[in-house]
Amino acid sequence: MKKRLFTPGPTPVPENVMLRMAAPIIHHRNPEFMEILTRIHEDLKYLFRTTQPVVVLSCSGTGGMEATISSLFKQGDKVITVNAGKFGERWGELVRIFTGNCVEEKVAWGSAIQPERLAELLKEHPDAKGVCLTHSETSTGTAADIQTLSALIREQSDALVLVDGITAVGAHEFHFDDWGVDICITGSQKGLMMPPGLALVAVSERAQDIIKGQSMTQYYLSLKHALKAHAGDDTPFTPAVSLVIGLDEALQMIKAEGIEHIWKRHESLANACRQGCNALGMKLFSNSPSFAVTPVWLPEGVKWSAFNKALKNSNGITVAAGQDDYKDKIFRISHLGFYDELDMLTVIGGIERALKEINFPFEIGAGVSAVQKAFLGN
Ligand SMILES: *Cc1c(COP(=O)(O)O)cnc(C)c1O
Repeated sequence: MKKRLFTPGPTPVPENVMLRMAAPIIHHRNPEFMEILTRIHEDLKYLFRTTQPVVVLSCSGTGGMEATISSLFKQGDKVITVNAGKFGERWGELVRIFTGNCVEEKVAWGSAIQPERLAELLKEHPDAKGVCLTHSETSTGTAADIQTLSALIREQSDALVLVDGITAVGAHEFHFDDWGVDICITGSQKGLMMPPGLALVAVSERAQDIIKGQSMTQYYLSLKHALKAHAGDDTPFTPAVSLVIGLDEALQMIKAEGIEHIWKRHESLANACRQGCNALGMKLFSNSPSFAVTPVWLPEGVKWSAFNKALKNSNGITVAAGQDDYKDKIFRISHLGFYDELDMLTVIGGIERALKEINFPFEIGAGVSAVQKAFLGN
């Protein structure tokens, strides 16, 4: 049976990326590797739409978040975090550890923070040193309007704009420089079509200045170290050499397709996925849907365990479960990274087969038909 992954990280890795990583290992201080790293540093600027440095850290996405908070802030610094799901919650946990002064704004799961509410928070906390946002909240499949939120923060305060873009970079339109963002993080196993193990962090000029003036509270996950090495197209420690080489290949694919096309492809796949679910009588969870992942309520009477077993064991398809309070209530279909239109027919077709196996009533082919129509027209 063919295995097919539809989870929002790890995501499928293209064959050419895997083949590049399988080549004999090279030393990270030899010219061949330095040449690759120099090219990656350029290409990451293309991906993030920036002229500022984007550093490559050997850790998963959370390591990029931790490096960010620990490098920018000191004990006592007030930081606003928006918690609209699992990953926004993580910003708060990090801020509490490193500054002990977190203003956490909770937003209902499935919704994004509204600009009016953020404006109130900024007014209440003029001394905030940073605002932590999540562009695509993976636990709820919900996208926030980073362009508007960032503009608002820049207008009303001196707080840094920190964006967890881990499932947004490569799925949603994003302009690091033009939108006035100070930090944006992504991880290799999400939109970059890579195995897990790298975090990429873009750092604005004013964030770089602040980092230079802070004393270090972490040695390994330090943006100060990473930026210093980046200036010489180098890394401070032994990088994950094979992953960095795979990243070079993935970035060539991204450039060949073109970032605008990639954003449009994700929007179109997400739209078709939602149409397919609707046509099967399943309700969508988010009121501001992400283009990376589609969360869906499990229909009345459908148990996650039975549905997941039918999907996995009989069809080789892995989707993601719900998290926390929504563990047995929703499931999440990913279309982030290396996916195309036929993949959406496959996943919705697989869901139909699983629903049939567990005797859930629906019209066979209705979901697949809706996906076809979303792509091909009526
Ligand atoms: C996956 C993810 C993370 C965490 O990344 P890890 O690579 O698991 O450390 C953080 N934020 C968002 C939005 C994510 O999707």
